[in-house]
Amino acid sequence: MSDPQQILQDVFGYAAFRGAQAAIVDHVVEGGDALVLMPTGGGKSLCYQIPALARAGFGVVVSPLIALMQDQVRALDELGVKARAINSSISGQERREVERMMRQGDLDLLYVAPERIFAEGFLDLLSECRIGVFAIDEAHCVSQWGHDFRPEYLKLAVLADRFPNVPRIAVTATADSATRRDILERLSMEHARVFVASFDRPNIQYRIGPKIAERKQLHEFLTEQDRGGAGIVYCLSRDRTESIAAFLVEKGYEALPYHAGLDAGLRSRTLERFLREDGIIVVATIAFGLGINRPDVRFVAHLDLPRSLEAYYQETGRAGRDGEPSTVWMVYGAEDIAKIRSFIEGSDAAEEQKRVERRKLDALLGFCETATCRRQVLLRYFGEDRPEPCGNCDRCLSPVETFDGTVEAQKLLSTIYRTGERFGAGHVIDVLRGSDSEKIRRFGHDTLSVHGVGKDRDDIQWRSILRQLIAAGLVETDLEAYGALKLGPEVRAILRGERHVLLTREASRKERRTAAGPGRAARKAAIPDGDRGLFEHLRTLRRQLAEERQLPPYTVFHDATLREMAARRPRTLDAFAALPGVGTAKLAHYGETFVQAIRAFAAGN
Ligand code: ADP
Ligand code: ZN
Repeated sequence: MSDPQQILQDVFGYAAFRGAQAAIVDHVVEGGDALVLMPTGGGKSLCYQIPALARAGFGVVVSPLIALMQDQVRALDELGVKARAINSSISGQERREVERMMRQGDLDLLYVAPERIFAEGFLDLLSECRIGVFAIDEAHCVSQWGHDFRPEYLKLAVLADRFPNVPRIAVTATADSATRRDILERLSMEHARVFVASFDRPNIQYRIGPKIAERKQLHEFLTEQDRGGAGIVYCLSRDRTESIAAFLVEKGYEALPYHAGLDAGLRSRTLERFLREDGIIVVATIAFGLGINRPDVRFVAHLDLPRSLEAYYQETGRAGRDGEPSTVWMVYGAEDIAKIRSFIEGSDAAEEQKRVERRKLDALLGFCETATCRRQVLLRYFGEDRPEPCGNCDRCLSPVETFDGTVEAQKLLSTIYRTGERFGAGHVIDVLRGSDSEKIRRFGHDTLSVHGVGKDRDDIQWRSILRQLIAAGLVETDLEAYGALKLGPEVRAILRGERHVLLTREASRKERRTAAGPGRAARKAAIPDGDRGLFEHLRTLRRQLAEERQLPPYTVFHDATLREMAARRPRTLDAFAALPGVGTAKLAHYGETFVQAIRAFAAGN
């Protein structure tokens, strides 16, 4: 068996290659080197797994994610692929057994940590074996530009000298050109063919709204979600992960906090549960990151702004690796912007670095406040032009109105000016709305000409206007006086009415109560109501089988396969074999059990 297309069907159970996969696989099978830049969930693994199976000898996969190797090996085992891992977690005896398999060529894929390659005698051992391909996973680890730099990765260049006839394929989801240059140069792969896939994640729905009452909003969002799969809620601080997780538990969710301050044992138990349980939610700081490759993460929620669009793309990218509909959701407010600005300004970084960070924050705010398709803005930031709006973000699903907001901007800017550029958003908006509070009177702000000029809009609407002015650089936040609002450098033209400001219109509190409210997009139902019962039934069966074998549920079947099963209801093994994700081994393992279950379900209904 050496035809890639045949392997794709028989082993993996997929009918066709996706996007550039076919070209990449052909190139590597022919012996060419390749650098593959593909988003998370794009299907990078097949790009080296299939060449490993198609070429003589076995494939060596260098990966820094030791925690996940075992799951990968077991998933391959489920497909009838002979895979093993050598890392610090296996015993000496297991290692000797794997070494025997390597020498005898009784192996398809070998996963190793980078430091293992350079351990005593290992390269010599590899020279005695027949190797079909080297795959370098998470190849951006070779670059100091990224945040995952691994010094051992630099030494991997030696593979080019030691094994000149073995093709190498480096894969990563990090796309920027500096990292790309680093990878090619540092791995001695200058001549490699570079494959760049689109970074669009069409199955991810983007939704962003104003932070009004974050817990209530989060709870509402979760109510609209399916209970299966897994979810991640990101917050900035350790305290917040704990209190939000406790809140979700109170609301009946299976939620766990995760941050770098927890002890290592608890952290790894939490990660373990996250990888295995259905319906689990982890509330985490960004310490929860590298190595989360559970494919059925159904949502990622941000309760705080990420640092940049790169970080946002990476964090939200953990949703929907299996290609099934997934939602990423974020709420934020002006205070969050002030917080990030103070991180940037208060850090010890060089001025040059701070300038870069400020530009990145501006790009992020531009994305958050855009009136048009979010996917277009996001992809443009990564250098991809997408001519049509996507139809799967909140802006496309419930378009916002824009209006000439010059007068509103003038009112807000004047209020900031007249109160002495010393107050935060809450107070400034209170003055605008004509509040009669003790604080307002104490400062004499009830006597200002601007007091009450903004009565026609409520606090949510004024906060929206304020965020837009901050995003446009017209209002700044003072870091000495934490969060105090100040005028930006270019406001004079606006105050004089020479420059107009276009704003998006935010729904008021009242409008929110009566309508479903803009910003709340309809979730595309992944599973039609008629199939829902059988789908849940099959999901339970999958969980039982997974528990018996101590595997994560998705290694039995992915959601996409279950969904098709619920739709097509195959009653024979032949029909079952035609499902996507069902190859020879899965058919033999599970075909009978699932076909029986489908028959019984039909009879019972
Ligand atoms: P990456 O490593 O790029 O994040 P994976 O290799 O884990 O992505 O693939 C993501 C998902 O897409 C997996 O569930 C995989 O089985 C599925 N997949 C990959 N290639 C195909 C294909 N040609 N047809 C159908 N599903 C595919
Ligand atoms: Zn869109």
